[in-house]
Amino acid sequence: MPKVAQVEPITTARVLRGPFDYICPEGAGVGSVMVVPFAGRDLLAVVTAVTDSSEHEMSEAIELLPVSLPRDLVALGPWLADEYCSTPARAYSLMLPPRGVKERSALYASVLREPGEDERLTANQSELLGSLPRLAGGDVAALRRLEKRGLVLLEAKSQRRAPKHAEVGKASGASGPPLTSDQAEALEELLAAAPGEQLLLHGVTGSGKTEVYLRAAAEVLAAGKTVLVLVPEIALTPQIISRFVERFGETVAVIHSKLSPGERFDEWMRLRSGEARICIGARSAVFAPMSEIGLIIVDEEHDSSYKNEGDPRYDARHVAARRAEDHGAVLVAGSATPRAESWQRLRRLSLPSRVDQMPLPEVEIIDLRGASGVLHPDTFQALVDSRKSIVLLNRRGWSNYLSCSSCGYAWECPQCDVTLVLHRASGSISCHHCGHRERVPERCVECGSVSIARHGTGTERLETELPGIVFRLDGDAADAGAVLRAFEQADEGILLGTQVVAKGHDFPDVELGVVVDADQTLRFPDFRAEERTFSLVTQLAGRSGRGSERGRVIVQSFSPDAPALTLAAQHDAPTFLEQELSRREALRYPPFSTLIRIVCSSPQPGAAQDAASQLQQALPGSLGPAPLFRLRGRERSQIVIKAEDRHTAVAAVNAAVGKVAKGAGRKSVAISVDVEPQ
Ligand code: ADP
Ligand code: ZN
Ligand code: ZN
Repeated sequence: MPKVAQVEPITTARVLRGPFDYICPEGAGVGSVMVVPFAGRDLLAVVTAVTDSSEHEMSEAIELLPVSLPRDLVALGPWLADEYCSTPARAYSLMLPPRGVKERSALYASVLREPGEDERLTANQSELLGSLPRLAGGDVAALRRLEKRGLVLLEAKSQRRAPKHAEVGKASGASGPPLTSDQAEALEELLAAAPGEQLLLHGVTGSGKTEVYLRAAAEVLAAGKTVLVLVPEIALTPQIISRFVERFGETVAVIHSKLSPGERFDEWMRLRSGEARICIGARSAVFAPMSEIGLIIVDEEHDSSYKNEGDPRYDARHVAARRAEDHGAVLVAGSATPRAESWQRLRRLSLPSRVDQMPLPEVEIIDLRGASGVLHPDTFQALVDSRKSIVLLNRRGWSNYLSCSSCGYAWECPQCDVTLVLHRASGSISCHHCGHRERVPERCVECGSVSIARHGTGTERLETELPGIVFRLDGDAADAGAVLRAFEQADEGILLGTQVVAKGHDFPDVELGVVVDADQTLRFPDFRAEERTFSLVTQLAGRSGRGSERGRVIVQSFSPDAPALTLAAQHDAPTFLEQELSRREALRYPPFSTLIRIVCSSPQPGAAQDAASQLQQALPGSLGPAPLFRLRGRERSQIVIKAEDRHTAVAAVNAAVGKVAKGAGRKSVAISVDVEPQ
């Protein structure tokens, strides 16, 4: 009797839920990846179990691929599906290496024996022999002839495609500076932590958190275990990567979105085989195929990029905690502005001061009430007085919207219920949600008037109002890394951009940071608005004054007394977090509940709202349905659940969505579930 392979075919279809039985190919086991015939197509599939018998008639697999998932990832698939109302197949698709890429091998030549006294060699041949061992390169034919004579050994070895980025290299051999006493204490506690324990390393920017990670990683490697390091978007955090590569060399694998499929495949294989024992990467690296993980680091743990926006809408921090538990690894979340959740749940280690003993920058809140223009005169003067500054404005484009001064008509996106943003350089008005673009109008489409007013200021316009050379970094910038490098190398200038400018870069000589419109984040309709604002101001403060001068930060606001601002100005994260936690407890927001958001959308008028109200009725205690703005031609409606118990709630949501989806499907309603939305 042949063995039975239970497989999960990789498909995005929600209704097809495995496992399905196939005849188990020779050599296949749990985690094996194969190609199977499925519903008339050839699909990739992951083997989730091997059994002795099946009640079904079975087909043969088409091909057994030379890659396999480690067992803990096989088990993680269904778990992820349950946690985020998704399917195991979608979960596995996040874990597999890119397809259709072959392992790259190269010919290596080495000397097999020295030529005897009487063996005649041409000058070229002796020279070749003298240069071995090395890659065969262009002289393969000549080496083959030497191989025939038994002088040279040629062998194919698998070869890593060196990523075309700065992050490959040899270890420098340096072991880092002696630790400060705070760092030493944090490291000691970290290394003494129990397997599976989760810690929060709360350290002000510049307090030497990265150095603590590096030391801890060295200890964990020495103990024979591996290390997983998660960072926010890689393009924005090159420094931490280069520090790991400098310290640990080739054993570091880097996974990010700019890798070619071949490079990604190689890094995946190096991790799977154990050749690479440290993995650094953004969100998706949480699924790195590593064994025996001893330490998981989540750097800048407050960063919203840890949440995936597509299905499965997983949170890499939550998955990291689960993997740490599976491996008995210690998890360390690090930040200067931790989330309230982490502050409450994790054991805290703290680095209260900067390594260089410099005082934290002075933060000044400027009251915008009664002021005119985007920049307060004091802010303008401060920019004139500073050699290098960072200016943050969370709005791209020239102005927010255009309206007719005669009849009031406002230009909106035909697909979405939002106004079109003016981008002057490209001569267009565009939708920031769906990408719709139009030429800048010359006259009103309603009344023909040529008097068109521009409202609000975005980064494109602010650029023209700033004193000095401006380096603009926003969604319009083609290459964020290049802009950052140019600013880093410049002697003077202003880095202007949306919130990316406040993230993790280390510029030693920035004197001033400016938040142009703090109310924009503060007024955002979300229970995390205060936390985000606090974090933004604090992170920006961390970017300035890292050299010899004390830095300065200016925050412009119409609500200068908001605690998120005043406490950020005092660099008082603990008080802010305690207040934030009691506010959330009173309102039953996370971490005192789990939020689940369900969004129904449909191009048919009324259909989304109907489906949402059916869901609302099926889920007692849920809030809504609340209509959302139309997006890409689809009406949308949402309901929100504040759940005491995550697992019961997710199960109830799954059941309700399954039931409602059947009827709604006919009206082309799409239902998306987001557990713990950001
Ligand atoms: P964080 O990650 O908390 O922002 P870093 O680890 O980047 O801080 O440290 C800030 C700076 O201080 C870096 O340039 C780093 O090389 C340096 N540094 C860290 N620890 C020490 C130390 N013990 N002695 C001297 N310099 C240090
Ligand atoms: Zn008009
Ligand atoms: Zn649109």
